[in-house]
Amino acid sequence: MKTIIEPFRIKSVEPIRMTTRAERERLIEAAHLNLFALHADDVLIDLLTDSGTGAMSSEQWAAVMRGDESYAGSPSWYRFEEAVQRVFGLEHVIPTHQGRAAEHLLFGELGGPGKVIPNNTHFDTTRANAEDTGAVALDLPCGESLDTASDFPFKGNMDLDALRAALVEHGDAVPLVMITVTNNAGGGQPVSLANLRAVKALCDEFGKPLYVDACRFAENAYLIQQREPGQRERSLEDIVRDGFALAEGCTMSAKKDGMVNIGGFLAVRDAELARRLRERLVVTEGFATYGGMAGRDLEAVAQGLAEVLRPEYQEYRHASIRYVVERLHERGIPVVRPAGGHAIFLDAKRFLPHLPWHQFPGQALAIELYLEGGVRSCEIGSLMLGATDPATGAGKPAARELVRLAIPRRTYTQSHMDYVLEVVEAVWQRRDAIAGVEIAEAPPVLRHFTGKYRRLAAQGAAR
Ligand SMILES: *Cc1c(COP(=O)(O)O)cnc(C)c1O
Repeated sequence: MKTIIEPFRIKSVEPIRMTTRAERERLIEAAHLNLFALHADDVLIDLLTDSGTGAMSSEQWAAVMRGDESYAGSPSWYRFEEAVQRVFGLEHVIPTHQGRAAEHLLFGELGGPGKVIPNNTHFDTTRANAEDTGAVALDLPCGESLDTASDFPFKGNMDLDALRAALVEHGDAVPLVMITVTNNAGGGQPVSLANLRAVKALCDEFGKPLYVDACRFAENAYLIQQREPGQRERSLEDIVRDGFALAEGCTMSAKKDGMVNIGGFLAVRDAELARRLRERLVVTEGFATYGGMAGRDLEAVAQGLAEVLRPEYQEYRHASIRYVVERLHERGIPVVRPAGGHAIFLDAKRFLPHLPWHQFPGQALAIELYLEGGVRSCEIGSLMLGATDPATGAGKPAARELVRLAIPRRTYTQSHMDYVLEVVEAVWQRRDAIAGVEIAEAPPVLRHFTGKYRRLAAQGAAR
């Protein structure tokens, strides 16, 4: 059969509240043009993030009922520990309430003032936790990652020359090398096994441990299977084991490829490091056999780690993302290609070329997607990552102006994706008339969460 179907049927449904355009005009004005300030039940299709927003399976809900809430030594913990060891091959497992808590523990032990931590691209919480210890977070993405139009298959790769140069320059100041799979901040693009091996070879040459930010490990394995020569016949489990055999440890947000709404962990090979991490764990998260999670959450992750590696699940997930990306591309709508693992990224710089970066084309586009069809997306451009002085407008743009449509796991169907396509196309038809925005009020850090914006007067002619 040619049609790739959702590999599940639906047992419990959650109604979506429909809104009219007039209502959305009013709602977005009341939110000061900031999509984070909307009430979620005023959103029709919520593509703000794929983090913790997915649906659990009936087997996961059954596991939740089995959850044992013993403070120490719960059987749910042993099932969780065994699942992590089986999938990743890392012996010492430390449960945390989500990914950033794992980062906080790891960098608390290995970071510190004067340290330099290279990564293909730090996710924002990873950077914040590294910097919080006084360390410098270095992003070393491969050169191909900057061209949103090329079809290079592994734009998540680390720049190997830049990594070597960083290891030579910073020497003893580098406590570890980290690599993020898939590269979330870099467009959900995968890292190849060949690149992982080359990074590991450099780590060995300079005597550094390699850690993996494992949030989307299964999506990365699927993209390796599909795109890397010689991998097509191998199982996802084998590919994951190959990749993590190179690592000294990993941090994980189970809200992504753990297929749950909350949870995470840190896993390491070194027993002595694990002992020190557990000492910190008990102070900030909880006892070693539950960390930051309830017994029922441990059960749901253990089950989720098995389900995420099922080939039919990965095939469906990537097919629906690829479907949207390819349709948009056929219609000439600028979108990052090839499709990444968890989201569709519109290139707002090419979508709204009449808007300079300081009129925030990504935010202007995200607002229009909401007005047009109630679709909530997320700007990843100069508003989130750039720097501007609201008084003078002076500042620095981000490298790219993107709008991310993140796809929650097992939550929306093909017709929802068709609807999203229709919304993007309708906005594309009237793109010339779309005005930019300016910042009315914003805090100095992480301004995209709480900032307030104003619309500028439209300049172009209506199409
Ligand atoms: C989500 C994410 C994190 C942080 O995890 P939280 O569970 O949100 O704390 C870290 N790294 C990457 C790549 C992520 O996508």
